[in-house]
Amino acid sequence: MYSKPIENLIRAFSHLPGVGRRTAERYVFHLLKAGKKDPAELALAIKNLITTVKSCAICFDFSDRSPCAICADTKRNAKQICVVAESQDLQAIERTNMYTGRYHILRGLVETDALISDENTLKIPELVARAKSEGITEIILALNPDLQGETTALYLEKELKTTNPELTITRLARGLPMGSDLQYADEITLSSALKHRTGSN
Ligand SMILES: [Zn+2]
Repeated sequence: MYSKPIENLIRAFSHLPGVGRRTAERYVFHLLKAGKKDPAELALAIKNLITTVKSCAICFDFSDRSPCAICADTKRNAKQICVVAESQDLQAIERTNMYTGRYHILRGLVETDALISDENTLKIPELVARAKSEGITEIILALNPDLQGETTALYLEKELKTTNPELTITRLARGLPMGSDLQYADEITLSSALKHRTGSN
């Protein structure tokens, strides 16, 4: 057993996605061997992250201000919402320079085998409320082309149509490979999927 401070940081790192105990150990000993500067920078960056980054009250993206820069930008189309699962997906769509509307971050996807009550942590009620209160004309569902993305899209279409039958709901065009992750899609594929999006009405 390592001494307590070492063990504590190994545990903290091993909670990160994709990091097992061995990798966590490598990180900790790398920091120990690096001297004081690197670990101090890391500690400060984490401290700033938790003290300055908040959730945008409108779109739920993580930002240092609320409303975030995109929601506060009056030049963007306030009648269009692009729905994504995570903040990284928003960044992927922004990189295409093809989209000028606003966003809504769900903070995850509907679990395919979960009951609807489990969706309480997702920002779905907030999306439905926005679609109504902001007079939205188009909702673009930009979700991963996999089973979970599909389940979420179908659920959202149903929820949104129930409260607002007039709403145009579109989806990214096929072309994104099935099972792929939106945030890793290249800009050309994603641009094309956005441009050729298809609607249910
Ligand atoms: Zn925002």
